[in-house]
Amino acid sequence: MNEYDSNRILDFTRKINYLPTNNLSETNCYILNTCHIREKATDKVYHEIGRLKKKFRNKSKPIVLIAGCVAQAEGDILLKKEKYIDAVVGPQSYHHINSMIKKLEKNSQPINFTEFEVIEKFDTLNSIKNTNNNISAFLTIQEGCDKFCKFCVVPYTRGPEYSRSMKEIISEAKYLADNGAKEINLLGQNVNAYNFEGKKLSDLIFEISDIKKIERIRYTTSHPRDFTEDLIEAHKNCKKLMPLIHLPIQSGSNKILTAMNRKHTVEEYFEVIKKIIKVKPDIKFSSDFIIGYPSETYDDFKKTLQIMSKIKFINSFSFIFSARPGTPAFNLNIIDEKVSRDRLIEFQQTAASIKTDYRKKLVNKTAKVLFENKMKSGNKYFGRDEYFNSVIVESKNNLTGKIKNVKILKVNQTTLFGDIVPNLNQTDHAA
Ligand code: SAM
Ligand code: SF4
Repeated sequence: MNEYDSNRILDFTRKINYLPTNNLSETNCYILNTCHIREKATDKVYHEIGRLKKKFRNKSKPIVLIAGCVAQAEGDILLKKEKYIDAVVGPQSYHHINSMIKKLEKNSQPINFTEFEVIEKFDTLNSIKNTNNNISAFLTIQEGCDKFCKFCVVPYTRGPEYSRSMKEIISEAKYLADNGAKEINLLGQNVNAYNFEGKKLSDLIFEISDIKKIERIRYTTSHPRDFTEDLIEAHKNCKKLMPLIHLPIQSGSNKILTAMNRKHTVEEYFEVIKKIIKVKPDIKFSSDFIIGYPSETYDDFKKTLQIMSKIKFINSFSFIFSARPGTPAFNLNIIDEKVSRDRLIEFQQTAASIKTDYRKKLVNKTAKVLFENKMKSGNKYFGRDEYFNSVIVESKNNLTGKIKNVKILKVNQTTLFGDIVPNLNQTDHAA
């Protein structure tokens, strides 16, 4: 979502002729878009500002703006502690960025814009085109969260749940398609909680699948509680919907899920998975895990390992619990750092071995790959298969934007390598 926001911020600043540059030393305005989900986010901001200061030691400083969730959560502290920062702008008020830059051009006082103006933000965003021309494009459809998991800053930094109108989203999707997008990634902190005047995520998916030039649709991140029957059916009936679902579970222990206020049990989670597999047997899942949540015993942790081995997630994102200021879990007794670290290592080893087994089975199979770009070195092209696995092939023909069958020859933990198969009617697709 931060990538989407960063691109949209640039869509704004282009209007006042502030254009992106790859040369940091020549920038007139430096915008750092930040994430606050885990600790050290604020330290990273100070570190980046330190780097910037060095670059501009002998020059007049650029306008320095901190955007995103760190700005939202710690804006006043940032402005007080680091005078090099001219302004902070939260994720729901970045539509003010041009007027802020204009003010700062005239040496104004530090500015703090951290209101939750999500409706105004999207109204303003609708009036400027999304200029992104990636083959695989992001599209935010929903923001914020009302679920209040005890560890999470999102309800405080992105604010309450908000869904954009279908009309706005379809119009943005069509524009992205006309600009070259072949794949749309629908984004939201709780993307399957999408609800605009009764229209749900499944309605949106079918509407987008009617856009001819769009060949693939993905969505992230969904919550187990919002996985309704209509969305499950969409996986059966919408051919353009990709067969990988990112569905965070966080822990395999019901005790920990309750402590986290996740509002679902392991059994309920598993029930959702079973229902989806029933309508779409070749579906795969990825997930997020928090290791070492306060009060997690080794027995709780073992249950997390068990769920990993049972569902065989093809990808997982695992983090040690990070106590975030302002969240209810902030003051809980954290468990020993070494214990958490050891559990994380054990978990990641299990996850890696499941991933290796899955990937080994892909060798000699055929994967349908949407190619996104030519790589810098040689005649290599980068793309993704239906399961979001990165694939690299060599080709003298321009593959960008094309979907090709690829025979997988070699795999590692990050990438599949293969050759283009000329015949499109292969049957043994990688699953
Ligand atoms: N809304 C999604 C859900 O409920 O599953 C997750 C969105 S959250 C922005 C992304 C991931 O960051 C979470 O799934 C969680 O694993 C991780 N995360 C969030 N807060 C965390 C914390 N305090 N410590 C460690 N990991 C955290
Ligand atoms: Fe954070 Fe997701 Fe929980 Fe919302 S549902 S509070 S975004 S982890």
